[in-house]
Amino acid sequence: MFNYIIVGAGFAGSVMAERISNILDEKVLLIEKRDHIGGNCYDFYDNDGILIHKYGPHIFHTNLKKVWDYLSNFTEWTHYEHKVLGYVDGKKVPIPFNLNTLRQILPDNADLIEDKLIKTYGYNSKIPILELSKTNDKYLKFLSKVVFQKIFLNYTKKQWGRDPNDLDPSVTNRVPIITSKDNRYFQDKYQGLPKKGYISIFHKLLSNSRIHILLNTDFKELIKLKDKKIYVSGKHFKGKFIFTGSIDELFNYKFGNLPYRSLKFKFKKYNQEYYQDVGTINYPNSHDFTRITEYKHLTGQSNPKTVINIEYPQKYCINQNIPYYPIPKKEYNLIYKEYEHEAQSIDNLYLLGRLAEYKYYNMDEVIHRALKVFEEISSE
Ligand code: FAD
Ligand code: UDP
Repeated sequence: MFNYIIVGAGFAGSVMAERISNILDEKVLLIEKRDHIGGNCYDFYDNDGILIHKYGPHIFHTNLKKVWDYLSNFTEWTHYEHKVLGYVDGKKVPIPFNLNTLRQILPDNADLIEDKLIKTYGYNSKIPILELSKTNDKYLKFLSKVVFQKIFLNYTKKQWGRDPNDLDPSVTNRVPIITSKDNRYFQDKYQGLPKKGYISIFHKLLSNSRIHILLNTDFKELIKLKDKKIYVSGKHFKGKFIFTGSIDELFNYKFGNLPYRSLKFKFKKYNQEYYQDVGTINYPNSHDFTRITEYKHLTGQSNPKTVINIEYPQKYCINQNIPYYPIPKKEYNLIYKEYEHEAQSIDNLYLLGRLAEYKYYNMDEVIHRALKVFEEISSE
């Protein structure tokens, strides 16, 4: 019946389904265990018409023109550039740490440190905190200690359950120190939010009648791997199988569990127009949550009420919560490599997305990967 089976209806699975059905004109079976499409990018309008991102704030940003152009076929955009403040020493300061933050946190030494930063790294440079910590300059060393302690250490401990030095540097590199007064969280060329929500993109991606979607279905109910072959409802499947779920689950955890971090979200509604000044406020050093996001800042909606989302990091436990973040760390990557090696020995199995590739991908990177994998598949 189907030459293509996809597991997972997030961006990875949905972009693949769109390409296969529209470009190759082939039928696709898309299996999704949740009761909705969209994966972690799913959003919905609540009773008051406020657009809520169910699984945490999602801001689209990319430097990849190809990805922006592709997605723009499925949505119009609300222009939005994300602003984040961090609650540090009783003040709300711009994050990423930049020259404005410097003036607020270290007003007495700001001129000297700014001068040294610009002389050493240049104006408008991005310096990862773990890189800055290697400096031999007395003042820059002092700066790196302050930024590490006040912005990175406790936030990272909450978010990941470990110290920044106990993770791949790529994690803290996402939010580098910026030697300019640019208060935006992302500097990418293309930024925005889909005008009618991510959900409208997913409806369009999956609108071809050749795509058959099975919601509320765990792939394990239908699909088995045995002797390096794929079986669907007991029959040997010879088509292409694109998997975007957790790779350790696919192989029944045979090389051990891959660890993830999870989150618990607490939503609150207020009978007032706004709750806070910007989209997100980070709380590195107080509370057991990491950040509060107010959606109306992101979506640009006007409404007399407002909704905030508070993020509480959690340990991931299989079947109890959602594996939101793969944990970038060498020892886990080695486990992943064993799974990847096993997967390569199975014909027509393609791994794609944050869970299947065990990579801390942003949305644009996942879409980029999906477009690449589609090119591979269609040229075979
Ligand atoms: P997912 O969206 O996770 O989709 C995988 C799908 O597979 C899910 O729907 C899942 O239910 C399904 N599945 C899993 N197991 C099974 C199974 N056994 N059977 C059937 N189906 C299964 N990126 C940005 O670019 N900007 C942001 O601002 C941003 N903010 C984020 C905030 C948070 C809190 C989180 C967690 C992520 C954020 N991201 C952001 C990253 C973004 O969510 C991911 O890049 C994107 O969702 C990855 O898409 P995916 O298809 O790989 O995975
Ligand atoms: N980070 C931090 N303090 C902050 C912001 C970020 O320590 O105020 C670190 C933390 O380790 C976090 C990582 O930088 O997990 C990446 O932050 P980002 O905002 O990109 O995380 P995401 O939005 O993916 O959860």
